[in-house]
Amino acid sequence: MDYTKYNKNWREISREFRRKMGDKCFDCGRIGTRKKPNVTDHEDGNKRNDSESNLRVRCPRCHLIKGIKSGEISPAQLPFKKKADIWRRIKCSLHLTETRTHMEQ
Ligand SMILES: [Zn+2]
Repeated sequence: MDYTKYNKNWREISREFRRKMGDKCFDCGRIGTRKKPNVTDHEDGNKRNDSESNLRVRCPRCHLIKGIKSGEISPAQLPFKKKADIWRRIKCSLHLTETRTHMEQ
């Protein structure tokens, strides 16, 4: 991870925020484990905006999905095994949005 984009005390802020929120994923409710910990995510994508209203606890998968949707992560960077599962979920939510828009017209 490139920590130069983060504030110096980011690791402490991140740890403290997850503790405060019960380490629960904002999107799916997954609780972080020692083996696969949750992460603290910047909602607006600005890694220096550490205000609590901009922070979200996310599990690795929801973090990845959010990153891809916002364009921060390219799907090409994903390991092959993960791709299928992640794509299914993204396509699923995109499809729902498209269908909804289509029906409203
Ligand atoms: Zn999640």
